[in-house]
Amino acid sequence: MEQTNPWHRAQTQLQKAAQTIHLDPLLLARLLHPERTITVSLPFVRDNGEIEITNDYRVQHNSILGPYKGGLRYHQKVSMDEVKAFAMLMTIKNALVDIPFGGGKGGITIDPKTLSKRELEQLTRLFTRRLARNIGADIDIPAPDVNTNPKIMAWIVDEYNNITGHPSPAVITGKPLENGGSKGRTEATGLGGSYVLLTLLQKLGKKPQDITVAVQGFGNVGYYIAYFLQQQGCKIVGISDFKGVIYIPDGIVDIAQVQHCKEEKGFLAGCYCIGSVCDITYKNQLHGKDITAEEVLELPVDVVVPAALENVINKNNAEKLQASIILEMANTPMTLEADEILNKRNITIIPDILANAGGVLVSYFEWYQNLHNEHWSKEEVFTKLKQKMEHAAIRENDKRREE
Ligand code: NAD
Repeated sequence: MEQTNPWHRAQTQLQKAAQTIHLDPLLLARLLHPERTITVSLPFVRDNGEIEITNDYRVQHNSILGPYKGGLRYHQKVSMDEVKAFAMLMTIKNALVDIPFGGGKGGITIDPKTLSKRELEQLTRLFTRRLARNIGADIDIPAPDVNTNPKIMAWIVDEYNNITGHPSPAVITGKPLENGGSKGRTEATGLGGSYVLLTLLQKLGKKPQDITVAVQGFGNVGYYIAYFLQQQGCKIVGISDFKGVIYIPDGIVDIAQVQHCKEEKGFLAGCYCIGSVCDITYKNQLHGKDITAEEVLELPVDVVVPAALENVINKNNAEKLQASIILEMANTPMTLEADEILNKRNITIIPDILANAGGVLVSYFEWYQNLHNEHWSKEEVFTKLKQKMEHAAIRENDKRREE
């Protein structure tokens, strides 16, 4: 049986890493146990008058490096163990990219797709009121995660300001631009991942033009990683979302055009585009091959990018992967068992805590701009992002070679 409890898995992974680097036992103990876990129940009124009670969590994992920082997830599968695991990953991710934050994470156990806009806003504002004493620009700074977005962050900051009586934009990141958000946040995670991969390719003496890539997931992260890698010359041969796959062995011509088509249709299937013409007859398409979303991971490419879900690389498919590099853009896309199999096969894994750290980096930039009343241009944000991501990637690569 593969280890599926996310918290036990995160602890096991940390213990293994601690052994490798001979981590001080007291520090390990501090990392193995969150500093504070908060559970609240939120009874709220549905539009039909019924009262519903949700379970809600915030985990403040570690604050050695600074205030807790991490996203807020709304999903029916949210559990305390999942939140604890992601909070621990945030502590390590923030340390890895050298920002003055500890790690935190939060979540509400609800499927937000079942809520009306009024219900969603009511629940979010209630959650903020319950948490108000535990969050703050120098205490704990939440951000968007799965199923939460800039609009929800704007409600949180508004409710928080009502409670404290003064404007505190730095209490939350991932806000809309007009509420103090940062330019470049939308592209940040994908762009950051592309900087890490390009740094590694350079170290390996490989040119982007010779590299083929397959991406699973074509949401915010999947689209931007594919887009920026294509801009740098990589050949993107496969992309998928929950409903469709495009596999073009010669390389997809224009990722931005595919995204445009997907936005119009609402899904990816059949969105193969050449110039401004998109072939939407998926099953009869002249280009490409018909494969499943899972098979995208097993394509004969140089780099595979899981950018959708957890545990998609596991003991059932780890032997079938053909890529020599895996760029983990999703959070925990790989089980511990798969990790061991791929390590034995000498496949390079660029871990999530490095690959997708671009998002939290620009969140840090947003927090910094709010506190100093600055407004950086997109170019400025991207330059700083590049510097930080490349620095972390080079340091990580050099450390691995020393081991
Ligand atoms: P998103 O909701 O924008 O996109 C998710 C994509 O995955 C969608 O295209 C969806 O169709 C696709 N998908 C769902 N099920 C699939 C399946 N079975 N096969 C193939 N594709 C499938 O989410 P996102 O913001 O792009 O996040 C993706 C991952 O990256 C998550 O694990 C998230 O935690 C992680 N992440 C995101 C950020 C960020 O800034 N957005 C930062 C760090 C980590």
